[in-house]
Amino acid sequence: MDEMIFYSTNLSAPEVSFEDALLRGIAPDKGLYMPRSMPHIEIDEIAGMKGMSYAQVAFAILEKVLCPGVDSGSLRRICEEAYDYEVPVERVSDADYVMRLDRGPTASFKDFAARLMARLVQYFTGKQKREIVILTATSGDTGSAVAQAFFGLENIRVVVLFPEDEVSDRQRKQMTTLGGNVTCVAVSGTFDDCQAMVKEAFADGGLSGLNLSSANSINIGRLIPQMVYYFYGYSRAADDGEEVVFSVPSGNFGDIMGGLLAREMGLPVARFIAAVNENDEFVRFVDSGSYSKIVPSKNCVSNAMNVGHPSNLSRLVALYGGQMDENGRILKMARMDDIRGDIFAVSVSDDETRDTIKRVYDEFGVVLEPHGAVGWRGVEMFREGFGNKGKVVCIETAHPAKFPHEVIEATGVDVEVPLSISRVEGKKEIVDALGVDYLGFREYLLNRFL
Ligand SMILES: *Cc1c(COP(=O)(O)O)cnc(C)c1O
Repeated sequence: MDEMIFYSTNLSAPEVSFEDALLRGIAPDKGLYMPRSMPHIEIDEIAGMKGMSYAQVAFAILEKVLCPGVDSGSLRRICEEAYDYEVPVERVSDADYVMRLDRGPTASFKDFAARLMARLVQYFTGKQKREIVILTATSGDTGSAVAQAFFGLENIRVVVLFPEDEVSDRQRKQMTTLGGNVTCVAVSGTFDDCQAMVKEAFADGGLSGLNLSSANSINIGRLIPQMVYYFYGYSRAADDGEEVVFSVPSGNFGDIMGGLLAREMGLPVARFIAAVNENDEFVRFVDSGSYSKIVPSKNCVSNAMNVGHPSNLSRLVALYGGQMDENGRILKMARMDDIRGDIFAVSVSDDETRDTIKRVYDEFGVVLEPHGAVGWRGVEMFREGFGNKGKVVCIETAHPAKFPHEVIEATGVDVEVPLSISRVEGKKEIVDALGVDYLGFREYLLNRFL
């Protein structure tokens, strides 16, 4: 096997190995790293996954992508350590399945990527004997998944910036109660302010001594692990060779990019449903072929998907032969008809989201939270539009207990809080506070981490 090669979506940076792409986060021309090509997997091998555990499926897929850059014994161990929790695939009705990616330590699907990525970063920094600082801006779920995943790892320090008023209590405590190598900074501004400060730090040559890297989904190390659950879900729901539909509640489009890459490898997918909330810039792009971001993004109940300009769109456009720069400008048009054939894009309002939580509970006794409900409503609209009766796997990206208010309101069910959430409740929080001021942030980083 040859090692995989990654190029930058801005096409003005050298190609790199996975190791370099992972540790850099973003390419020097501000583009995102994309695989030049994907290895192929035979349908027989996919059929063989029916009896495998999640960790075994992860190893089977990732071995093709990451070895020999990562030695295969280490990769097997990394997969076993990262995936020591359940991944339920529930059959809801004849052809409808819900895959729950909410049983990890922070009860969101982001644990799947963060836990593998953290161990890969440690593997490579250990080999290179160097220290790095992972810098991440979060609106809630990314920061907690990343902080939990990197907590206690050697040679890696983590700095999470979050908007002090936009993160829920539970999300905040998942990060701020850790301590050790995890530093949390409450910024008196919005998520966009945090994101801007982080971006400026990455572009700041004066900080190169810190070895900054990113754990946001601009990092290809976040996407590669997200291919795995599409194979896993397929193995649990599909008969051999059958094509299935995946419905993906989407914000920054990292989740669905994992699916698209899995399909590149040979997973039989009939179509992806990209279900977004009222931030519908992608739906309008697919309909019209022209793109404009939504500024500021709309505040919807599925709050982890309040994204007005998905950072992974430049990767999606690249996959279909086009080019989009980091500001959302299209330099070369993608094959839009192919995108339309592969992806059904749909926007779901907050009212429909709440209504869906209620209906799915009344009809099937299944509890969804707002993000999963957006995905489910996407399936209904897809079936109405296409008369499709094939199997659908709907991805549930968070645990209902993370959204107690919305869930009780719609269903009357007071969902039991998983241990992952309850165990941080009474713990002491350690947080630094900063204003929206890049120079102040820069000083802080240099003083604390150089
Ligand atoms: C991050 C997140 C999403 C959106 O995933 P993307 O990869 O950004 O499209 C959906 N649901 C939940 C609960 C999330 O935390």
